[in-house]
Amino acid sequence: MNITDNNPKPMDLCIIGGGLAGISAALEARRLHPDWHIVLTESRSRLGGRAGSFIDPKTKNWVDNCQHVGLGCCSALIDFVDRLGSPDAFRRVPELKFLGPDGRVDTIKGSAFLPAPLHLAPSFARLRFLSNWDKFTLGFGLLKLALTPPNWLRGKSVAKWLKSNGQTPRSIKRMWEPVLVSALNDDLERLDLANARQVFVESFFKTRDGFHLLVPAMPLGELFDERARLALSTQQIEVICNMNCQSIQSHENRFHLQFRGKDNFIAKRIIIATPWTTASEILKTMNEVELNPITELINQLKPSPITGIHLQLDRRICPHSEIALLDTTTQWIFDHTEADRRQAGCILPADGQSLHIVVSASHELARKSRDEILEVIIEELKTAFPEMQSSTILSSWVVTEHAATFSPSPGIDSIRPTPSTPIKGLFLAGDWTQTGWPATMEGAIRSGINAAQAMTDSTISDHKL
Ligand SMILES: Cc1cc2nc3c(=O)[nH]c(=O)nc-3n(C[C@H](O)[C@H](O)[C@H](O)COP(=O)(O)OP(=O)(O)OC[C@H]3O[C@@H](n4cnc5c(N)ncnc54)[C@H](O)[C@@H]3O)c2cc1C
Repeated sequence: MNITDNNPKPMDLCIIGGGLAGISAALEARRLHPDWHIVLTESRSRLGGRAGSFIDPKTKNWVDNCQHVGLGCCSALIDFVDRLGSPDAFRRVPELKFLGPDGRVDTIKGSAFLPAPLHLAPSFARLRFLSNWDKFTLGFGLLKLALTPPNWLRGKSVAKWLKSNGQTPRSIKRMWEPVLVSALNDDLERLDLANARQVFVESFFKTRDGFHLLVPAMPLGELFDERARLALSTQQIEVICNMNCQSIQSHENRFHLQFRGKDNFIAKRIIIATPWTTASEILKTMNEVELNPITELINQLKPSPITGIHLQLDRRICPHSEIALLDTTTQWIFDHTEADRRQAGCILPADGQSLHIVVSASHELARKSRDEILEVIIEELKTAFPEMQSSTILSSWVVTEHAATFSPSPGIDSIRPTPSTPIKGLFLAGDWTQTGWPATMEGAIRSGINAAQAMTDSTISDHKL
């Protein structure tokens, strides 16, 4: 079907941006509108956006931009990978391991007998990297946070609240910080307290398995590009890559989309599912005054970085498939060996190991060079795992995404826009829109569903008029 200006039969829906938000919007729109002509456009050659991989020029293998993990409470993510025909996409890890500075490993896991929210209490009580007083005040703090209505917490800083609620420096450094910085991606001073509450309630309190880690069992590119394309084409959703949307004009209930160096498209409805900075640029090209309040909100969002370090080693140095390090720059280490071995060009020897190291809110690392970052991380690995001292690094990648997510700073919830806009037929998706979730795969997927549903609601109310 021709969808350009030369044959101006408009498509029913054009989605701009093939990250998780765009893919999820497309699948939900198809579920709601089996007969629509739906087109998903993406500026790069691959789908998946930030949850994607690039190709190693030497081995031709996928390398993930950065390790991604979900949690057991990410119900939309779990449904989404099912919709992609990939229920095998994630490995479920029912415990969280922490390596203390004294070399001892402690584990948080659910009791076999206690219901949520008490199921984690016994393993919290056994943690050796916190003193009894740390644990007592931590328990009090978590309870108070969970029992306070979120509206009372919005706009407040996590760091100030922890200090004024008797949290000890050690429990802040070894429990509040590792959990919240990994989940929300900014320093405690820059986190909104209501967002912090949501992390603990959803993952630790609400259900018994909310805290389980969901670790991808395959490269992100295989899951969110190859498998996603297959699922989209089975659903008769047209995917067009290398389509960089530059501007949109709206004219007589139709949107005319201009793509760099390509034919223009005409669509009845649009979902913009790009990162927030691009969305703001595209919205400005429409020259609609009603959109000014939205672009002003979007422009208040601030970026926060994540650094991922991938190491392929000639031997196994880390006996854990995933573990958090305490009191170090390194936050999480994931064993990526199995996922790497799925690929034909894998250079790992039989007893080699592939590790992905993640540093969220990596403001300080982001200012360092690649070699300086490697030096910091390798030194920490040598201390944590003595085998590292005699190992050889076969390949290494350091990827810092400077705008990995928006910073969920105090007051953030009043800045994130809703999926609907004042322009009929124009909707927004992306992890930065109002989802009630942080900037995560879960948030992005929910945003796509929200946008498709908001579009359907407005289509129904138009028909009623
Ligand atoms: C380093 C890093 C680590 C992370 N770790 C985790 C994690 O462990 N767990 C987790 O849940 N989340 C994690 N995240 C966050 C997660 O990746 C994002 O929240 C999610 O992928 C965002 O999806 P999205 O679709 O909203 O945006 P994006 O993934 O940014 O997708 C937007 C798409 O729009 C395309 N686009 C941009 N401009 C245009 C244009 N003009 N025309 C057409 N297309 C355009 C882009 O190429 C992109 O594909 C991490 C992110 C990063 C960067």
